[in-house]
Amino acid sequence: MSDLEIYRRKNCRYCETPLPGPFLELGIMALANSFLTEEEARLPEFECPLDLTLCPKCRLVQLTHVVPPEKMFSHYLYVSSTTETFRKHFAEYAKSVRAKLLKAEPGLAVDIGSNDGLLVSCYEKEGFRGAGIEPAKNLSDEANRKGVFTINDYFGERSVRKLLDTIGPADVISGNNVFAHIDDTHAVLRNVVNLLDPKGMFVIEFPYLGVMFDKMFFDMIYHEHLSYIALTPLADVLGRFGLEIFTVEPVASHGGSLRVFIQKKGAGRAQEPIVRSMLDEERRKGYLEDAVYHEFAKRVYRVREDLTGFVEGARREGKTLSGYGAAAKATTLINFCKFNTGQIRFVVDDNPLKQNKLVPSAKIPVVPREYLASHPTDYIVIFAWNFAPEIIKKLEPERAGGVKFIVPLPKPAVV
Ligand SMILES: [Zn+2]
Repeated sequence: MSDLEIYRRKNCRYCETPLPGPFLELGIMALANSFLTEEEARLPEFECPLDLTLCPKCRLVQLTHVVPPEKMFSHYLYVSSTTETFRKHFAEYAKSVRAKLLKAEPGLAVDIGSNDGLLVSCYEKEGFRGAGIEPAKNLSDEANRKGVFTINDYFGERSVRKLLDTIGPADVISGNNVFAHIDDTHAVLRNVVNLLDPKGMFVIEFPYLGVMFDKMFFDMIYHEHLSYIALTPLADVLGRFGLEIFTVEPVASHGGSLRVFIQKKGAGRAQEPIVRSMLDEERRKGYLEDAVYHEFAKRVYRVREDLTGFVEGARREGKTLSGYGAAAKATTLINFCKFNTGQIRFVVDDNPLKQNKLVPSAKIPVVPREYLASHPTDYIVIFAWNFAPEIIKKLEPERAGGVKFIVPLPKPAVV
């Protein structure tokens, strides 16, 4: 099998138990961030099932199929320094890490998937020596140009060896929104253990499964996100590598994420009470049983029924619909609902890099906002629902002209 082929995982990536069939099927679709030019749209698209399965032993929720990272991450559009919110987020992040250091003098801090180097530069402001590891060439080049030391590679034996041979073990290793993207978790944890100082810490941030369940954010499911992490399976896999969680901070990113602080067993920090209380809460909510997962899937299918039912009803009345926000989550929701230009004529997005492209699989055109003036629409589905209040405010002239807005999640509502 070539490294560039999709494959179906047979065993859980955390505990190696054989995996059963999916409990939720979103269908076969293209990669969420692969927006197409007109030319690309004439070629066959790369598509793959987007289904979730549950490990019967450690309870990790994971995609059934794995798309090789080379297909997804070699040239990433997203650049972290672009928003003020991110700059603040990472400045505060570096401070919180610094406060948990067991040494007087900060040493090396390594960020995995360091993007354009924003967090690494925040570490340096806190007195650390910073190093980034970033597989996307355009991003690592940009970081190095800005003076942020960045290795253009995946986090693996080669990059770890390079760091150990030159600047030594790390007091801090962090990975934000990368841990859930990694297929071979065991290799990553082995390399973390090798690179980490005995008193160091490993910090990861990922969207929390509990938030996806409670708030119905199932449009965060896409091929890049291989695992949907709760604390219970995470604590289990860390334990296999002599690692333990010492505290957890809930953070607002991506609708609700967890920042988990991990150390080698015996490093000396006491476990904060929040760790035990979150593990207890997961047990209380039924995460160790099957029913809660099937119930979630039922709610997800109901959202699709409600949303497609509404769209079909509006069309029967001769109304027209469009969308707003061509984010990755829009790709998931649009293709899960099997919308095409017959239902959603176009999707407005303010990012010029997305405009004049087509939504993956569905091939719905992405257009700039001005397009609305010449192509009036009765309803706008806000696919970037997490920014709904801002978007509705921005579209006040359209609203005054009679346009109605649909917020699709947690359940479709006309506002
Ligand atoms: Zn497992």
